[in-house]
Amino acid sequence: MLINAEVLARDRWPDILTAAGVDKSYFRASNGPCPFCGEGVDRYRWANKHGGVYVCSVCTEGKYRNGFDFLSRHKGFQAFADAANYVRAHFGINGSLDDQVVVKRLAQEPKRSTAVDPQKSLARMTRQWDQAVAVTPGDAVHRYLCNRVPGVTSVPSEVRYHPSLEYWNPPAEQGGSPVLLGRFAAMLVRGFDVHGNLVQLHKTYLDQEGHKAPVPHAKKTDQGVGSNSFALRLGTPTDTLGVCEGIETAIASSVMRNIPVWSCHSSSILANFELPTIFDGLVKRLIIFTDSDEIKNGRRAGEEAAKTLADRAKKMGLRSLIVRPAKVGTDFADLCRNSASV
Ligand SMILES: [Zn+2]
Repeated sequence: MLINAEVLARDRWPDILTAAGVDKSYFRASNGPCPFCGEGVDRYRWANKHGGVYVCSVCTEGKYRNGFDFLSRHKGFQAFADAANYVRAHFGINGSLDDQVVVKRLAQEPKRSTAVDPQKSLARMTRQWDQAVAVTPGDAVHRYLCNRVPGVTSVPSEVRYHPSLEYWNPPAEQGGSPVLLGRFAAMLVRGFDVHGNLVQLHKTYLDQEGHKAPVPHAKKTDQGVGSNSFALRLGTPTDTLGVCEGIETAIASSVMRNIPVWSCHSSSILANFELPTIFDGLVKRLIIFTDSDEIKNGRRAGEEAAKTLADRAKKMGLRSLIVRPAKVGTDFADLCRNSASV
Protein backbone atom coordinates (compact mmCIF):
# COMPACT_ATOMS: atom_id res chain seq x y z
CA MET A 1 0.00 0.00 0.00
CA LEU A 2 1.34 3.42 -0.91
CA ILE A 3 2.03 6.10 1.63
CA ASN A 4 -0.52 8.81 1.08
CA ALA A 5 1.36 11.62 -0.67
CA GLU A 6 -1.28 14.12 0.38
CA VAL A 7 -0.61 13.35 4.03
CA LEU A 8 3.14 13.73 3.47
CA ALA A 9 2.90 16.97 1.52
CA ARG A 10 0.40 18.82 3.66
CA ASP A 11 1.96 22.09 4.93
CA ARG A 12 5.32 21.03 3.45
CA TRP A 13 4.84 22.48 -0.05
CA PRO A 14 7.26 25.42 0.27
CA ASP A 15 10.03 22.92 1.18
CA ILE A 16 9.08 20.45 -1.54
CA LEU A 17 8.73 23.09 -4.25
CA THR A 18 11.86 25.09 -3.40
CA ALA A 19 13.76 21.77 -3.49
CA ALA A 20 12.21 21.31 -6.96
CA GLY A 21 13.76 24.61 -8.05
CA VAL A 22 10.93 27.08 -7.40
CA ASP A 23 12.08 30.42 -5.99
CA LYS A 24 11.01 30.81 -2.38
CA SER A 25 9.55 34.25 -3.10
CA TYR A 26 6.50 32.45 -4.52
CA PHE A 27 5.45 31.22 -1.05
CA ARG A 28 4.65 34.59 0.42
CA ALA A 29 1.14 35.48 1.46
CA SER A 30 1.39 38.83 -0.36
CA ASN A 31 0.51 39.48 -3.99
CA GLY A 32 3.24 39.26 -6.59
CA PRO A 33 4.10 38.09 -10.10
CA CYS A 34 2.78 34.69 -11.26
CA PRO A 35 5.36 31.96 -11.91
CA PHE A 36 3.22 30.45 -14.68
CA CYS A 37 1.32 32.93 -16.83
CA GLY A 38 3.70 35.78 -17.39
CA GLU A 39 5.05 37.93 -14.71
CA GLY A 40 2.50 40.61 -13.88
CA VAL A 41 3.03 42.36 -10.57
CA ASP A 42 0.18 41.37 -8.27
CA ARG A 43 -1.85 38.62 -9.86
CA TYR A 44 -0.46 35.72 -7.81
CA ARG A 45 -0.49 34.79 -4.11
CA TRP A 46 0.37 31.78 -1.89
CA ALA A 47 -1.77 30.87 1.14
CA ASN A 48 -0.91 28.56 4.04
CA LYS A 49 -4.35 27.01 4.27
CA HIS A 50 -5.75 23.65 3.18
CA GLY A 51 -2.20 22.29 3.37
CA GLY A 52 -0.81 25.00 1.05
CA VAL A 53 -2.54 26.55 -2.00
CA TYR A 54 -1.92 29.23 -4.62
CA VAL A 55 -4.14 31.50 -6.67
CA CYS A 56 -3.68 33.64 -9.77
CA SER A 57 -6.30 36.08 -10.97
CA VAL A 58 -5.37 35.28 -14.58
CA CYS A 59 -4.37 31.63 -15.08
CA THR A 60 -6.39 30.03 -12.29
CA GLU A 61 -9.17 32.57 -12.73
CA GLY A 62 -9.06 33.51 -9.08
CA LYS A 63 -9.57 29.93 -7.90
CA TYR A 64 -7.27 28.30 -5.34
CA ARG A 65 -5.26 25.30 -6.51
CA ASN A 66 -3.21 22.90 -4.39
CA GLY A 67 0.48 22.08 -4.24
CA PHE A 68 0.13 19.05 -6.51
CA ASP A 69 -1.21 21.35 -9.21
CA PHE A 70 1.70 23.77 -8.66
CA LEU A 71 4.22 20.88 -8.77
CA SER A 72 2.65 19.38 -11.91
CA ARG A 73 2.69 22.70 -13.76
CA HIS A 74 6.27 23.37 -12.67
CA LYS A 75 7.58 19.92 -13.62
CA GLY A 76 5.26 19.27 -16.56
CA PHE A 77 3.63 16.23 -14.96
CA GLN A 78 0.51 15.01 -16.77
CA ALA A 79 -0.75 12.52 -14.18
CA PHE A 80 -1.42 12.97 -10.47
CA ALA A 81 0.51 9.73 -9.84
CA ASP A 82 3.68 11.36 -11.19
CA ALA A 83 3.33 14.26 -8.75
CA ALA A 84 2.50 11.88 -5.88
CA ASN A 85 5.58 9.75 -6.65
CA TYR A 86 7.69 12.89 -6.81
CA VAL A 87 6.50 13.87 -3.33
CA ARG A 88 7.25 10.40 -1.94
CA ALA A 89 10.73 10.54 -3.50
CA HIS A 90 11.28 13.97 -1.93
CA PHE A 91 10.82 12.35 1.47
CA GLY A 92 13.14 9.48 0.52
CA ILE A 93 10.33 6.98 0.20
CA ASN A 94 11.03 4.36 -2.42
CA GLY A 95 8.08 2.83 -4.25
CA SER A 96 9.66 -0.63 -3.98
CA LEU A 97 9.10 -0.60 -0.23
CA ASP A 98 5.36 -0.35 -0.64
CA ASP A 99 4.68 -4.04 -0.22
CA GLN A 100 6.73 -4.30 2.94
CA VAL A 101 4.98 -1.63 4.90
CA VAL A 102 1.34 -1.14 5.33
CA VAL A 103 0.99 2.54 5.84
CA LYS A 104 -2.16 4.53 5.72
CA ARG A 105 -4.19 6.77 7.87
CA LEU A 106 -5.06 4.03 10.31
CA ALA A 107 -6.82 6.18 12.79
CA GLN A 108 -7.24 9.69 14.00
CA GLU A 109 -7.02 10.59 17.62
CA PRO A 110 -9.66 12.88 19.00
CA LYS A 111 -8.69 16.54 19.02
CA ARG A 112 -6.54 17.53 21.92
CA SER A 113 -4.51 20.43 23.12
CA THR A 114 -0.94 20.66 21.82
CA ALA A 115 0.48 21.58 25.23
CA VAL A 116 2.91 18.98 26.57
CA ASP A 117 1.64 17.06 29.57
CA PRO A 118 4.77 15.83 31.42
CA GLN A 119 2.91 13.04 33.24
CA LYS A 120 1.42 11.71 30.00
CA SER A 121 4.81 11.94 28.27
CA LEU A 122 6.47 10.06 31.10
CA ALA A 123 3.80 7.36 31.04
CA ARG A 124 4.08 7.02 27.26
CA MET A 125 7.89 6.84 27.27
CA THR A 126 7.88 4.29 30.07
CA ARG A 127 5.23 2.17 28.33
CA GLN A 128 7.08 2.20 24.99
CA TRP A 129 10.39 1.36 26.67
CA ASP A 130 8.78 -1.51 28.57
CA GLN A 131 7.29 -2.84 25.32
CA ALA A 132 10.80 -2.94 23.81
CA VAL A 133 13.24 -5.81 24.33
CA ALA A 134 16.98 -6.42 24.29
CA VAL A 135 18.60 -6.27 20.85
CA THR A 136 19.41 -9.70 19.40
CA PRO A 137 21.29 -10.66 16.21
CA GLY A 138 19.01 -10.51 13.17
CA ASP A 139 16.48 -8.05 14.49
CA ALA A 140 15.99 -4.69 12.76
CA VAL A 141 18.08 -2.73 15.28
CA HIS A 142 20.98 -5.19 15.12
CA ARG A 143 20.91 -5.02 11.33
CA TYR A 144 20.74 -1.22 11.39
CA LEU A 145 23.71 -0.91 13.73
CA CYS A 146 25.76 -3.45 11.77
CA ASN A 147 25.07 -1.34 8.66
CA ARG A 148 25.92 1.96 10.33
CA VAL A 149 28.76 0.80 12.57
CA PRO A 150 30.66 -2.16 11.09
CA GLY A 151 32.82 -3.69 13.77
CA VAL A 152 30.18 -3.31 16.46
CA THR A 153 30.47 -6.39 18.64
CA SER A 154 28.02 -5.70 21.41
CA VAL A 155 25.04 -3.39 21.63
CA PRO A 156 24.72 -1.37 24.84
CA SER A 157 21.83 -2.52 27.03
CA GLU A 158 20.46 1.03 26.91
CA VAL A 159 19.58 0.36 23.25
CA ARG A 160 16.37 -1.61 22.79
CA TYR A 161 14.34 -3.05 19.92
CA HIS A 162 10.65 -2.18 19.64
CA PRO A 163 8.96 -4.49 17.12
CA SER A 164 5.97 -2.30 16.31
CA LEU A 165 6.06 1.35 17.32
CA GLU A 166 3.39 3.80 16.22
CA TYR A 167 4.47 6.67 13.95
CA TRP A 168 2.36 9.80 14.32
CA ASN A 169 2.47 12.75 11.93
CA PRO A 170 1.72 16.18 13.37
CA PRO A 171 -1.78 17.57 12.82
CA ALA A 172 -2.41 18.77 9.28
CA GLU A 173 -3.76 22.06 10.56
CA GLN A 174 -3.68 23.98 13.80
CA GLY A 175 -6.01 22.44 16.33
CA GLY A 176 -6.28 19.28 14.21
CA SER A 177 -5.52 15.71 15.18
CA PRO A 178 -2.22 13.85 14.79
CA VAL A 179 -2.30 11.23 12.03
CA LEU A 180 -1.12 7.66 12.55
CA LEU A 181 1.04 6.76 9.53
CA GLY A 182 1.72 3.18 10.60
CA ARG A 183 3.69 0.89 12.91
CA PHE A 184 7.37 0.17 12.45
CA ALA A 185 10.31 -1.52 14.08
CA ALA A 186 12.27 1.03 16.10
CA MET A 187 15.51 1.52 18.00
CA LEU A 188 14.82 3.11 21.38
CA VAL A 189 17.27 4.84 23.72
CA ARG A 190 16.27 6.62 26.93
CA GLY A 191 17.45 10.12 27.79
CA PHE A 192 18.22 10.97 31.44
CA ASP A 193 18.77 14.36 33.00
CA VAL A 194 21.66 15.15 35.32
CA HIS A 195 19.74 13.74 38.31
CA GLY A 196 19.02 10.44 36.58
CA ASN A 197 15.35 11.18 35.81
CA LEU A 198 13.87 9.84 32.58
CA VAL A 199 13.14 12.93 30.44
CA GLN A 200 13.38 11.75 26.82
CA LEU A 201 12.96 8.72 24.59
CA HIS A 202 14.89 8.72 21.31
CA LYS A 203 13.30 6.70 18.50
CA THR A 204 14.82 5.60 15.19
CA TYR A 205 12.14 4.08 12.96
CA LEU A 206 13.37 1.15 10.84
CA ASP A 207 12.20 -1.39 8.31
CA GLN A 208 12.79 -5.10 8.95
CA GLU A 209 15.99 -5.04 6.85
CA GLY A 210 17.49 -2.47 9.21
CA HIS A 211 17.21 0.58 6.97
CA LYS A 212 15.51 3.78 8.02
CA ALA A 213 11.74 3.42 7.73
CA PRO A 214 9.94 5.28 4.93
CA VAL A 215 8.50 7.99 7.14
CA PRO A 216 9.01 11.78 7.02
CA HIS A 217 11.36 11.77 10.03
CA ALA A 218 12.98 8.40 10.79
CA LYS A 219 14.64 9.84 13.89
CA LYS A 220 12.40 11.37 16.48
CA THR A 221 12.40 12.42 20.07
CA ASP A 222 9.36 12.25 22.31
CA GLN A 223 7.43 15.35 23.35
CA GLY A 224 9.37 14.74 26.56
CA VAL A 225 8.75 16.33 29.91
CA GLY A 226 9.98 19.83 29.11
CA SER A 227 13.66 19.27 29.89
CA ASN A 228 16.09 20.08 27.09
CA SER A 229 19.14 18.81 28.93
CA PHE A 230 19.70 15.08 28.74
CA ALA A 231 22.12 12.35 27.71
CA LEU A 232 21.55 8.92 26.18
CA ARG A 233 23.73 6.96 28.63
CA LEU A 234 25.25 4.26 26.45
CA GLY A 235 27.54 2.60 28.98
CA THR A 236 28.88 3.10 32.49
CA PRO A 237 31.61 5.70 32.91
CA THR A 238 35.06 4.82 34.20
CA ASP A 239 37.66 7.54 34.80
CA THR A 240 37.01 8.49 31.19
CA LEU A 241 33.71 9.33 29.52
CA GLY A 242 33.14 10.16 25.88
CA VAL A 243 30.29 12.38 24.71
CA CYS A 244 29.01 13.23 21.24
CA GLU A 245 25.84 14.13 19.33
CA GLY A 246 24.42 11.07 17.58
CA ILE A 247 23.79 7.53 18.80
CA GLU A 248 25.66 6.00 15.85
CA THR A 249 28.69 8.22 16.46
CA ALA A 250 28.59 7.24 20.14
CA ILE A 251 28.61 3.52 19.40
CA ALA A 252 31.27 3.85 16.67
CA SER A 253 33.50 6.00 18.89
CA SER A 254 33.06 3.57 21.76
CA VAL A 255 34.14 0.68 19.52
CA MET A 256 37.18 2.57 18.24
CA ARG A 257 38.36 3.93 21.60
CA ASN A 258 37.09 1.21 23.90
CA ILE A 259 35.53 3.72 26.30
CA PRO A 260 31.87 4.41 27.16
CA VAL A 261 30.45 7.20 24.97
CA TRP A 262 27.15 8.94 25.64
CA SER A 263 25.01 10.56 22.97
CA CYS A 264 23.58 14.04 23.60
CA HIS A 265 21.39 14.00 20.46
CA SER A 266 22.17 17.52 19.18
CA SER A 267 24.94 20.12 19.23
CA SER A 268 23.03 22.47 21.54
CA ILE A 269 22.37 19.71 24.10
CA LEU A 270 25.99 18.57 23.83
CA ALA A 271 27.19 22.13 24.55
CA ASN A 272 25.09 22.10 27.76
CA PHE A 273 26.16 18.63 28.93
CA GLU A 274 26.60 18.24 32.68
CA LEU A 275 28.25 15.30 34.40
CA PRO A 276 25.71 13.63 36.72
CA THR A 277 26.69 14.21 40.33
CA ILE A 278 26.87 10.46 41.05
CA PHE A 279 29.90 10.33 38.74
CA ASP A 280 31.64 13.29 40.42
CA GLY A 281 35.12 12.22 41.42
CA LEU A 282 34.97 9.06 39.33
CA VAL A 283 35.17 10.65 35.88
CA LYS A 284 38.40 12.62 35.45
CA ARG A 285 38.50 13.00 31.69
CA LEU A 286 35.88 13.97 29.12
CA ILE A 287 36.50 13.11 25.48
CA ILE A 288 34.28 15.13 23.16
CA PHE A 289 33.75 13.56 19.77
CA THR A 290 32.62 16.10 17.18
CA ASP A 291 30.78 15.37 14.01
CA SER A 292 33.06 17.15 11.55
CA ASP A 293 30.14 18.83 9.96
CA GLU A 294 29.99 21.00 6.88
CA ILE A 295 29.87 24.76 7.28
CA LYS A 296 26.26 25.90 7.32
CA ASN A 297 25.40 29.62 7.40
CA GLY A 298 29.07 30.31 8.09
CA ARG A 299 29.08 28.12 11.22
CA ARG A 300 30.23 24.69 12.23
CA ALA A 301 27.64 24.02 14.94
CA GLY A 302 29.25 20.73 16.01
CA GLU A 303 32.70 22.24 16.59
CA GLU A 304 31.33 25.30 18.36
CA ALA A 305 29.39 23.03 20.72
CA ALA A 306 32.49 20.93 21.43
CA LYS A 307 34.54 24.03 22.29
CA THR A 308 31.79 25.38 24.53
CA LEU A 309 31.63 22.08 26.40
CA ALA A 310 35.43 21.82 26.67
CA ASP A 311 35.52 25.26 28.34
CA ARG A 312 32.78 24.23 30.75
CA ALA A 313 34.50 20.91 31.49
CA LYS A 314 37.60 22.79 32.58
CA LYS A 315 35.48 24.76 35.07
CA MET A 316 34.02 21.47 36.33
CA GLY A 317 37.58 20.30 37.06
CA LEU A 318 37.70 17.78 34.23
CA ARG A 319 40.41 17.30 31.69
CA SER A 320 38.91 17.37 28.23
CA LEU A 321 39.95 16.45 24.75
CA ILE A 322 38.20 17.24 21.49
CA VAL A 323 38.54 14.53 18.87
CA ARG A 324 37.48 15.12 15.32
CA PRO A 325 37.75 13.04 12.18
CA ALA A 326 40.10 14.29 9.50
CA LYS A 327 37.69 14.80 6.65
CA VAL A 328 34.94 17.41 6.59
CA GLY A 329 31.51 15.93 6.13
CA THR A 330 32.26 12.57 7.70
CA ASP A 331 31.35 11.40 11.14
CA PHE A 332 32.76 8.57 13.19
CA ALA A 333 30.28 6.03 11.91
CA ASP A 334 31.57 6.79 8.39
CA LEU A 335 35.17 6.56 9.56
CA CYS A 336 34.53 3.22 11.24
CA ARG A 337 32.84 1.90 8.11
CA ASN A 338 35.76 3.04 5.96
CA SER A 339 38.35 1.39 8.18
CA ALA A 340 36.29 -1.81 8.32
CA SER A 341 36.13 -1.98 4.53
CA VAL A 342 39.90 -1.62 4.04
ZN1 LIG B 1 -0.97 33.04 -13.47
